[in-house]
Amino acid sequence: MIKRNPCITNIRAGYLFPEIARRRREYAASHPNAKIISLGVGNTTEPILPHIDQGLTEGARKLATVAGYSGYQDEGLPELREKISAVFYRGQFTAEEVFISDGAKCDIGRLQLLFGAGTPAAVQDPSYPVYVDGSVLIGAAGGWTGEGYAGITYLPCTMENGYFPDLSKLPENSLFYFCSPNNPTGAAASREQLTALVAVALKKGVIIVFDAAYAEYIRDPALPKTIFDIDGSRECAVEVNSFSKPAGFTGVRLGWTVVPLELKYAGGESVNKDWNRITGTVFNGASNIAQAGGLAALDGEGLKEIRQLSDFYLGNAKRIRDALNALGIVCVGGDNSPYIWARFPGRDSWDVFAEILEKCEVVTTPGSGFGPAGNSFIRFSAFGHRADVEEACSRLARLRA
Ligand SMILES: *Cc1c(COP(=O)(O)O)cnc(C)c1O
Repeated sequence: MIKRNPCITNIRAGYLFPEIARRRREYAASHPNAKIISLGVGNTTEPILPHIDQGLTEGARKLATVAGYSGYQDEGLPELREKISAVFYRGQFTAEEVFISDGAKCDIGRLQLLFGAGTPAAVQDPSYPVYVDGSVLIGAAGGWTGEGYAGITYLPCTMENGYFPDLSKLPENSLFYFCSPNNPTGAAASREQLTALVAVALKKGVIIVFDAAYAEYIRDPALPKTIFDIDGSRECAVEVNSFSKPAGFTGVRLGWTVVPLELKYAGGESVNKDWNRITGTVFNGASNIAQAGGLAALDGEGLKEIRQLSDFYLGNAKRIRDALNALGIVCVGGDNSPYIWARFPGRDSWDVFAEILEKCEVVTTPGSGFGPAGNSFIRFSAFGHRADVEEACSRLARLRA
């Protein structure tokens, strides 16, 4: 018999979302009349808007015609690659630097394959789980130590440092996963912070994997929406992004990764060329239907719909933040991101989670699930129907007692 992959043995099994689901089921079983509302998951809830829907529908119809049929598109439809560069990067990238994917998370997994077990990983703490878990899966990190995984550098993002890490702790020649606006903290890095990040990366030989999945939620015009707004970033960063959160494509599946031609390894080889090799080997391209939807999302009408949808979720976020502030609970996020990160000093995340579930019948996400520095925090997600969010917000007042 084959032995189990030791990297999989290293991963802690189902400690966050399965545990949340278990606790929710347990509460529902003992309170059969409870109307539980979830502000827990990062999954979109609102329907795809009409113009983008039309793009998807026409994309599907075309495949059923001789003239419109298409098969494998490898790195993506050239029109979409160019349009992404034009819309999000002021045209500074050629189509060969923009790779279309079936989502940002999937590309993060493939980037881990690209950089391999020998490249140490550093993360913001707390962070989106795939950065750490995927690093463990490919052997770039070891087993659970009780505080984190061996070999991962956790850079705490706390209230005290404004949710931006101490870059002097970033290891040389590492891969640094950096997400802004951040999931779970909702904090968005300033131009000065990203400028400092790029300077440190260039000095230390670090490659930044910049996750911009929530860029379209930025409303403050002073905040950069991409790492490629910062000089020098083309020599030290790749950017992953997605239609999931701005266009409601969580179930459609479409994203992209930008790998600049200037990005090189220590030996001078091209990272872009290797990324092409990886995606050509273990990925055969995103759905042509999804890409037709993506093209529609990036024309004038589609961009208006992206704005409308993200405004809707930001409206939810404002309601949640106001409800928490009214209780004197300190929080960050929700202004340029759909997450609110609420602080409960001196308390354990899971205890707060249980209290909110029992008193308010609202499901949240315990901050400790995103990394050691997340303890004493709760993540509230703004993805939900308006009536549910309003009901949940009114119930949060019960925490006052
Ligand atoms: C939701 C999310 C993504 C998007 O992943 P897809 O695979 O494109 O759906 C990427 N990064 C972060 C931080 C997210 O929260």
